[in-house]
Order: sequence, then C-alpha cells, then structure tokens
Amino acid sequence: MKYLDDDRDIRFNLFEWLDLDAVLKAGPYEEVDRDQLAMVLDECLKVARGSVSACNEAGDRVGARFEDGKVQLPEGFAEAYGDLASGGWISPTADPAFGGMGLPESVGTGISEFIMGANTALGLEILLTRGAAHLIETFGSDELKGTFCERMYSGEWTGTMCLTEAGAGSDLGALTTKAVRQDDGSYLVSGEKIFITSGNHDLTPNIIHAVLARTPGAPAGPKGLSLFVVPKVRVNPDGSLGGPNDVTCAGIEHKLGIHGSPTCSLVFGANGGSQGFLLGQEEQGLAHMFQMMNAARWEVGVQGLSNASAAHQAALAYARERLQGRGPNADKGAGQSLIIEHPDVRRSLLLQSAYVQAMRALVSYTAWCMDMAHVTQGAERDRWQGLVELFTPISKAWCSDWGFRVTEWALQVFGGYGYTMDYPAEQYLRDCKIASIYEGTNGIQALDLVGRKFRMQGGRPVQDLLKLAGEAAGSWTGDPVLGASARQLAEAVKALDAVLTQLPGRENAPLLMLLNAVPILDMLGHVVGGYLLLQQAGLAKQKALALMGERGVDPNDPQAVRALQAGSRDAAFYQNKVQAAIHFSHRGLPLVAAHAVALLSGETAPMDAVF
Ligand SMILES: Cc1cc2nc3c(=O)[nH]c(=O)nc-3n(C[C@H](O)[C@H](O)[C@H](O)COP(=O)(O)OP(=O)(O)OC[C@H]3O[C@@H](n4cnc5c(N)ncnc54)[C@H](O)[C@@H]3O)c2cc1C
Repeated sequence: MKYLDDDRDIRFNLFEWLDLDAVLKAGPYEEVDRDQLAMVLDECLKVARGSVSACNEAGDRVGARFEDGKVQLPEGFAEAYGDLASGGWISPTADPAFGGMGLPESVGTGISEFIMGANTALGLEILLTRGAAHLIETFGSDELKGTFCERMYSGEWTGTMCLTEAGAGSDLGALTTKAVRQDDGSYLVSGEKIFITSGNHDLTPNIIHAVLARTPGAPAGPKGLSLFVVPKVRVNPDGSLGGPNDVTCAGIEHKLGIHGSPTCSLVFGANGGSQGFLLGQEEQGLAHMFQMMNAARWEVGVQGLSNASAAHQAALAYARERLQGRGPNADKGAGQSLIIEHPDVRRSLLLQSAYVQAMRALVSYTAWCMDMAHVTQGAERDRWQGLVELFTPISKAWCSDWGFRVTEWALQVFGGYGYTMDYPAEQYLRDCKIASIYEGTNGIQALDLVGRKFRMQGGRPVQDLLKLAGEAAGSWTGDPVLGASARQLAEAVKALDAVLTQLPGRENAPLLMLLNAVPILDMLGHVVGGYLLLQQAGLAKQKALALMGERGVDPNDPQAVRALQAGSRDAAFYQNKVQAAIHFSHRGLPLVAAHAVALLSGETAPMDAVF
C-alpha cells in the first residue's frame, strides 16, 4: 500500500501562504532559510514514502504482539524507526542544545503530516517521545535533562505519557497512583496505568515514562497531582543502563485501528521498586503535564488531517482508473467512463479536498502562531499565544471529527472494494477514529473551549478571530469569483457571534453551554476553516493570473485557460484551491447558521429524555 501525500499543498501553506519571513528573520530561526526548509521536507518525504510507509500495512495486518511480558512490533518497524531516528525526525523542532534541529513549528507540521500519513502507529511513537523529552527539558533538574533529553530527542530511548487509569480517564482528578519521597530525593511510584501508547516495545533499550501520581497527604482531585519521570530501566550516573525499574507490561489492547501501536497496561512498583524523579514542583503536576497534552492535542489534529488526506489521495487515484457507467459528458457510443467523470463522485472528491485543505490551513496557521509567539515579546507574544490556545482544542477536535468523516467519504468512492482489505481506505478510517477519543475526548475539548478558552485574556482571542474572519469576508465581498463565498463567511461569522453573545445571557446559560459545547466548537472550526480557505483562494487566484501572464494566456479565454490547467501542475493546483474554497463556503459554512438556529432555540430535550 503506497502512501500518497499532498506535498504540493503542504508547500503552498508553508512557502506561499504563511508569512514565513516574519518567523525566519527573528531570534532563534535567524540561521534557517527557505531553501534549507525545502530540503528538509524533501528528505523527510523520502523516509515517509520509503521505510515508514512500507511497514504501514504489516503494522495493521500483523500488529503489535504481546508474549511473556514483552511487546514485539511488526516487521519493518525497527528499520523505519531507525531511519526516523538517524534522520533527526524524532525532534526536528527541538532545541539544538539537546540534539534537535531547531526548526520552526511551521515546518514541523509538514514533517508530522508526512510521517503520520505514511504510518500513524509509528508517528505516535515519536510524537510521545518528543513530548516527554520536552517535559524533562522544561521542568527537570539539570541532572535529569543531562540524562534523558538528548537520548530521547535522538530516538535512542522513547517516551510515553502515563495518565489514564481504569477509574480515571477524562476525570484525571480521580487518579490513584502513588509516589512516596525517599531519603535520596527520588520517589517510589506504585500504581496501574492503562491505555499507555508505546508503554512497552522492542524498538529501544529504554522507555521513559512521564507519570502523574499523588504524593502522601496531597489534596484529592487534580490539584493533588505531581509529575514524575520513571524509566523502564534504571540509568547509572555515567548514563549507562542499570537494572530493571519494576515497570511491567501486563498486556496490550486488541483494538479497532492503529494495530502497530501497542496500547499497554503498565504496572509500576509491584515489587516496591519503581524509582521516579519529580519534574517541577509537587502538586503542580497537572499544570506541567498540560505542556505535553497541549502539544499532543495539536498533533492529534495533524493526525486527523493526515489520515483524511491520505484517504482522499487514495480515493482520487482510484477514481482516475476505475471504469463504470457513462458520465454526463461522454460521447455517444463511447464505452464506460472513469468514475471521476460522474458528478456525484466529483462532488465527494471536492468536498473531501475542501475539508482536508481547511484542516491543513488550520493546523499550519496554529503552528505559525506558535512560531510568532516564540519570536515576539510582551503584548504581541500574548496575542499569538492566545490564538494558539484557542486553536488547540479546535485543531484537535475539528480535524479528528471531520478527518474521520473524510475517510468515510473516501472509502465510499471505492464502492465495494473500499470495504475490503485490498485497498487502504478501510485502514485509514479505522486508524483515524481514535483521534477523536484520546488526548481528551472531543467532548472534553469542547468543554475546554467554552470554559477556559473563551474566558482567557478577557475573551480577546475569540474576539480577535471573529474580527479577522469578518474583515476577510468584507474585503472579498465584491470579488466576481469569491464574492459569494465571502458573503457565506460573513453570514457564518454573524451566526457564531449571535450564539456567543446571546447564549451566555440566558437564564439557564451554564446548562446551555455544557449541552452545546460540541456544536459551538464545530461552528468555530467551520468559521476558521472558511476564513483561512478564503485567504488561500484569494492568493491562489492572484498566482493563477500571474501564471497566465507569464505564459501569455488570456484569462478571458476559457479554452486557453483550460489548456494551461491541463498542462501545468501549478495552474491546476491554483484552480482547485479556488474551487475548494467556493465548495466549502457553500456546503460547509451553512452548517454554522444551522447550528445557530438549533442553539438559539434554547431546546434542552436531552435533559428531559428518559435514558
Ligand atoms: C488507543 C488508545 C491510546 C491511548 N493512549 C493513551 C496514552 O498514551 N496515555 C494515556 O494516559 N491515555 C491514553 N489513552 C486513554 C485516553 O486518553 C482515554 O481513553 C480518554 O481520555 C477517555 O477516557 P475514558 O476512556 O476513561 O473515557 P471516559 O472518561 O469514561 O469517557 C466516556 C464518555 O463520557 C464522556 N465524558 C466523560 N466525562 C465527561 C464530562 N465531564 N463531561 C462531558 N462528557 C464526559 C466522554 O467524552 C466520553 O464520550 C489511550 C486510549 C486509547 C483507546
């Protein structure tokens, strides 16, 4: 099964649309230039298309296996992981002082998409490793940093995130794992964690767990949690490996998708000997852990995008070769048409593409805001950081929900073959579903949005967003090609604004917000998507005109324009970008007004239903 990427759109986002120079001219990225970034993407793509993609099918069909307390990963995973580690793809954006490449997040998005799209199970391994290493870099003592960071960023050891327990999933305040301080300053950790991604495997000689646990006498609930780093194998002062650290794997889950990613039950300290080291301060563990959770949430959004994009590309390739029926423009007496000629198949393909482009624009723009927050200071930094925090739950939930729907639409294009294992569509659909569940379910993301994110900085980030989207709509309203789309965006902004101003004033506002958090997040996702796609379409239109100018093509001569689009990959790309924005604005954006009607009705039937 070959991975079909969307390299062209990834490069459009990075090199043509985002203001990359604003990032590159500043502080930590001064040494980086566009040519370097283009080469970085080339190199990453080779690995993604090569060994990483090559073992994706085996990862699914054979999956991770558990025998005698050990987890074995499928054939090809060790080689692909080795290629990712030796190429620096575990930590392209990490600080060079700890062995990272020091690249901006804007390019990190493209790298993550290539790897996640080629092999989601393997992508998760490195996502968690860099997240756990970053926790140690931020909150660890110099000694812990020296012991772990470089070895993890280089891929010599991997990392995990150990939150979930049988009685504590969404409700992290219910965690019971214990950590007792010892005379030497370390802690003995004991408890059982479940659903731990890559909690055990045979890729590396050590695995470094970031564990949330409770110290004796700590308050109940989330405020009593502390964060620890617990290696699978103890590490000697000289950095060499010591004996086992009493962390055992009790089994792995048998699940719908991501079969190559072992989802482990881990037992810490069954024999009283799991040594852990405190990160940051006691009872600040959840606040510290949010650094890793937020990064992972955004990356899970990238996963939704990656699965959707790969599924869409596969459907597009299939539609270009499958013959069935006769299209409306087929010549009389001609044989069967390619299914790509059928209007219903074309509708589905463009809708898939439009949502994929909207998701990619959202996660890329979020990454660019992270870079801007990194290179600015004071009020300007706060503004970019506010947008990052607002966009984090939206990226996670909107891209995973709509990413899953896109994989379903893509599967449909294959007809019966899509339902078989002969084609990759069904694997993309199964692999994608988890993205709406882990890292905080999408219901929990929506509560974070309407609770904390709407209130932060006095509500400014969400107001900034409405203003930016409204201004973009206003500036394109008179355009002959994009005017109708701009008006759809203006309507959507108005509908969202009405919900956000009216609902909180209702007598039963707290209930209405809890009941409608998910549709509110969906409204925001669509408005951001529509706003960013309109910007991109405006740019694509200009670029298409410039290309016509260069090639001497009259924009008012449809035949000549079509000939250019048939012969030039760029001309076709810009044309499709404009069409995707138009389609999204007419098929996606009206959902915002539909949600508004439902929400403003004040209907609360779910609370009166008898379940
Ligand atoms: C394949 C896989 C990999 C995973 N990897 C990891 C990992 O590496 N590390 C880790 O720590 N965990 C991991 N998890 C656990 C995952 O994060 C949890 O499953 C998830 O957070 C949900 O917890 P739960 O399963 O207990 O569901 P519950 O919390 O029981 O939720 C059940 C349902 O109730 C809803 N719900 C719960 N509370 C509320 C509320 N307050 N308001 C509204 N709705 C609510 C949820 O949205 C959900 O729909 C993984 C899970 C899976 C399946």
